[in-house]
Amino acid sequence: MNTGTLYLVSTPIGNLGDITFRAVEILKSVDLIACEDTRHSRILLDHYDIRKPLVSYHNYSEKERAVSMVEKIKNGTNVALISDAGTPGIADPGYRLIAGAIREGIRIETLPGASAILPALVLSGLPVDRFMFEGFFPVKSGQRKIKLLALKDETRTVIFYESPHRLLKTLAAIQETLGDIEIVVARELTKKFEEVLRKKVSETITYFSNKKILGELVVLFNLSVRKGL
Ligand code: SAM
Repeated sequence: MNTGTLYLVSTPIGNLGDITFRAVEILKSVDLIACEDTRHSRILLDHYDIRKPLVSYHNYSEKERAVSMVEKIKNGTNVALISDAGTPGIADPGYRLIAGAIREGIRIETLPGASAILPALVLSGLPVDRFMFEGFFPVKSGQRKIKLLALKDETRTVIFYESPHRLLKTLAAIQETLGDIEIVVARELTKKFEEVLRKKVSETITYFSNKKILGELVVLFNLSVRKGL
């Protein structure tokens, strides 16, 4: 029996139109789609009339699921891995399955597409030539401060993901550790209420203090801009 292929398929980060033709073709052709939340992914798949079996592949069970998924692929099943949004593996499950598939000599194809990192970066107006992605900052305040302090001499544009309910605490930590720097918050990219704020941390805190912070957001800064490099 031939071994199957693992396809890594990027899906939209908001606007359902942001998916490639090839991604739709592959999703229609595989035997199984591994996703995080089957109900969430069903919305996208229904939109493109993709009728394939879905299996959930969560962060909290990734280790065990990766082993069984690798077995399935070795037994000839073609699997597409998607996440709730964007590129699988980027602040989402995927890494263990990809590493496991590589170890087993399974063929992997990647279908590039949306991820929140690059649209946030190019929209930010900050230097795009060199950047670093930090994923989500630690939730615990002490660890978050240690992480921020370690960035004080960073010259690249720093990009990180943040949840709306932790934003104000993180902004306060940035102000405390790095000063009142210029910061960019890119919110709800590609969606109806897309918004990009480019302000000092103190102004950003004021802006968000008086409203309910909704949606998804990316935070960026570049300390060289402050120093006029
Ligand atoms: N795999 C995704 C990717 O490739 O970007 C990231 C998944 S991670 C669990 C979700 C985080 O990505 C959100 O909390 C937010 O920081 C960021 N994000 C995803 N979609 C976004 C959007 N439309 N606008 C702004 N940030 C977004």
